[in-house]
Amino acid sequence: METVSRGAYDGVGTHDDVRSHDAVRTASRALATEAVHAGRDDLAGQGLHAPPIDLSTTYPSYDSRGEAARIDAFATTGAEPDGPPVYGRLGNPTVARFEAALARLEGTEAAVAFASGMAALSAVLLARASTGLRHVVAVRPLYGCSDHLLTAGLLGSEVTWTDPAGIADALRPDTGLVLVESPANPTLAEIDLRAVAHACGSVPLLVDNTFATPVLQRPAEQGARLVLHSATKYLGGHGDVLAGVVACDEEFAGRLRQVRFATGGVLHPLAGYLLLRGLSTLPVRVRAASANAAELARRLAADPRVARVHYPSIGGAMVSFEVHGDPHEIIAGVRLITPAVSLGSVDTLIQHPASISHRIVDADDRREAGVSDRLLRLSVGLEDVDDLWADLDGALGERSALAALGA
Ligand SMILES: *Cc1c(COP(=O)(O)O)cnc(C)c1O
Repeated sequence: METVSRGAYDGVGTHDDVRSHDAVRTASRALATEAVHAGRDDLAGQGLHAPPIDLSTTYPSYDSRGEAARIDAFATTGAEPDGPPVYGRLGNPTVARFEAALARLEGTEAAVAFASGMAALSAVLLARASTGLRHVVAVRPLYGCSDHLLTAGLLGSEVTWTDPAGIADALRPDTGLVLVESPANPTLAEIDLRAVAHACGSVPLLVDNTFATPVLQRPAEQGARLVLHSATKYLGGHGDVLAGVVACDEEFAGRLRQVRFATGGVLHPLAGYLLLRGLSTLPVRVRAASANAAELARRLAADPRVARVHYPSIGGAMVSFEVHGDPHEIIAGVRLITPAVSLGSVDTLIQHPASISHRIVDADDRREAGVSDRLLRLSVGLEDVDDLWADLDGALGERSALAALGA
C-alpha cells in the first residue's frame, strides 16, 4: 500500500513528528489494520487513545506575517497549511484524521471531506469548470441527485450520457470529467473500471465508490483519478452522519480544498470524528452485511414472487430485485426492515427507487437506465439473515396471490 505524503495534524504535537511517524510505520499495512489505525498513529505518543474532537472555528496566532505567508501558500497550491490551523473552513484537525484514514483505505495520496456526498460532487464539478472544462461524460444509472445535478446543469456543466463503450467517442476538447458508478445505484450494474480508465485518456475519471467501499474495490488502483463517497452510507455506517469525501492525488486535492474554502461545504468536526470511528469497523461491517445480502439474493432469486434479482459479482451489501406484484405493497408490508431512503447502515432499509431515490430523474431516462417501476432496493444490515428473510417473505405476500396476478 502506498504511503501518504502527509499525516493528520494532531492538534497537540508537532506536525513533522506525526508525518515521520506515519511514514516509518505504515508503509505496508493491510486494510483491516489501516481501518483501525490510520489517522490515529500519533495518538499513543500523545498519551491519548480516542482521537480528540477539535470544535474550534478559529485559532489564535500572534504572528500575522506568518499567517499571511501560510494563506498565500494555500491560495497557490491548496496544500493544507503547515502548523496550527487558521480557520475552520480552511481545515480542521479532527476532519483531517478522517481524510488521512480514508486516503489510506483507498490507496490515494489525499482525501478531502465535505458536508455531504452532493457537496463533494459539486466541488469536483466546480474545480473542473473553473479551468474552463465544463463538459462531463457520464454513464447511467447514477444516484438520482447526481443525475439531476448534471442533467439540470445546475453548476454550469454540460453532460453527455453514454454507455461505457461510448466514452472514448464522447470525449471533447472541453471534457473535464468522466463520471461512473460501479456497482451503480440502484441497479447494481457493474463497469470494467480499468477499461473505462483507459478510454478516458488524460481526462480525469471519477468513480463513485459508495456502494463497494474500499473493502471490496479500490478504483484508484484501476486508474480512477478521483474516488467519491457519500460517506453518509457505509463509511459512517450507522445512519447518523451526513458527509462526502473525494480520495485523489495531492494536486487535485489542493484544488478541492480551495473550492471547499471558497464555497463553504465543510464537514463538521463531530461528523469527522464519527466517520473515523465508523471506518474502524468498516471491513467487518461490509463483510458481515455482504454475507447476509448474498444469502438474501440467493433466496429471492429462487422465489416465484420475484421476477429478477440484481447482485454484484464483487459482492456487497446491496440487493435490488423486481417483483411481479405491486412494489408499494412490499414497502408497506415490512415490519423489521425499515422502509426508508439511504443505505449502508447497520440495520436493513428498503426503498422504491422510482418513487424516492431516483424520483427526480425523468421517467423515460430512468427506465432507459434500467430502473424499472417494479424495482426495489434493499440495503442489507447486520440482523440475523433468517429474521430478515421472514420479514421479506411476509411482505412479498401470499405465494398463491401470484395466480390471481397471472404471473
Ligand atoms: C447517497 C448517494 C450520493 C449522495 O450523497 P449524500 O451524502 O446524500 O449527499 C451520491 N452517490 C451515491 C452512489 C449515493 O448513494
